[in-house]
Amino acid sequence: MKSRVFRAGAAKSNITPPLGTSIPGEMFGRTALHVHDDLHARCLVLDNGVEKMAIVVCDAIALPKAPVLRATQLIRKHAGIPHDHVIIAATHTHEGGPTASVFQSDADPKYLDWLAIRISDSVRRAVNNLRPARIGWGVGRVNGVVFSRRYFMKPGTVPPSPWGTADDQVMMNPGRENPNVVKPAGPVDPELVILAIQDMEGDPVAVLGNYTLHYVGGERSSDISADYYGVWADILEREWAKRAAAPKPPFVAMMTNGCSGNINNIDVRSALNQPYPYHQMHKVARGIADESLRVLRTIKYRDWVPLASRETAVELETRKPSPEDVRSARRILKNAGPVLESLEAIYARETVLMARWAGKVVAPVHALRIGDVGIVTFPGEAFVELGLEVKKKSRFRTTFCVNLSNDYLGYIPTVAAHAQGGYETWRARSSFLERDAAPALVSAALDSLRRCL
Ligand SMILES: [Zn+2]
Repeated sequence: MKSRVFRAGAAKSNITPPLGTSIPGEMFGRTALHVHDDLHARCLVLDNGVEKMAIVVCDAIALPKAPVLRATQLIRKHAGIPHDHVIIAATHTHEGGPTASVFQSDADPKYLDWLAIRISDSVRRAVNNLRPARIGWGVGRVNGVVFSRRYFMKPGTVPPSPWGTADDQVMMNPGRENPNVVKPAGPVDPELVILAIQDMEGDPVAVLGNYTLHYVGGERSSDISADYYGVWADILEREWAKRAAAPKPPFVAMMTNGCSGNINNIDVRSALNQPYPYHQMHKVARGIADESLRVLRTIKYRDWVPLASRETAVELETRKPSPEDVRSARRILKNAGPVLESLEAIYARETVLMARWAGKVVAPVHALRIGDVGIVTFPGEAFVELGLEVKKKSRFRTTFCVNLSNDYLGYIPTVAAHAQGGYETWRARSSFLERDAAPALVSAALDSLRRCL
């Protein structure tokens, strides 16, 4: 019998949009006037002679189903990897290209068409770069960087919802040094997982990281930037790369985002010390990169590992607005100008835009096995509790989750978080799944993981 050879390839394709495009990520529209740093689709392809899989991470706020489907068709055609062996995830940079229609920012279909090709190109290039390789993994922790962003507040200090109701029990981002903050409404996950691949001469091929942080921000609001995910990758590509004896494909670092729907980098107990834009982003990236480098130095590499990939489609109901909701939203918008400023009007527009939505959606959940590591994906902004539950119940020694993968179905709060209310539960195109979506998706994820064993 021919001995089995483990091979890996990595590549990154530039996906920076032209200036003048819309930058999604705020409730108000923004236009790109400058590129602070380029955006990329970063790809890792693994092939153990039995299974071949691709993981692509894009510097984007979110990737809806259409470009993902287009990209997976191209990947199947050109690289021969079936769609259930492909993960295409967004980092969730809030300074990315026009990939999603959220609040007053619109996706650009032309950019999405080109993006699908660039994603496919990153996979084709990674396949071209396949070479015999060894793989290992390790786990670290970065404390003091991640915080729950939902807080219980002193009685009477939670602001009303966009519908004027006063039943929210928690507030999102109450602001630093807010004296009305009582305590955070949820846990954090400071775990950092590192997968590392090197070739047979010991030169690094790729490093894939996983950390659970929504994004950092702190940039100029008209800049394009890959946020801390890009800064982290730059540091690793500078400090972990080796000067190979012969020319080789460049080493690629890629950071995936865990279940960070309710996790940010704001410590409400203290003021922000940001002497210049991007300071905090670089500080956070440096801290996570230092821990990544420490973990990398401890990794034991294996010559061959089992690979598996399973996909589950979960049918979920949507919280579609009622005809009465739509009628009252239309009344509110009648008197509003072209740029909406009040929460009431912004959410009224969301309600009208969702009037004809389907009552059901199909949510893709992937599970991957890479040796002793289990990976699960969610098609939206899952809350940290989902990731912690998957990690606890997984039968793999090391497990991590990748948010915002293979579709964008908005926030995925826990059932308890829906009862508490707050921004992430307010119905909009960025929050519309049924209240029981989280347990359904977690159980699909655990089932998919088991089927990878
Ligand atoms: Zn978000």
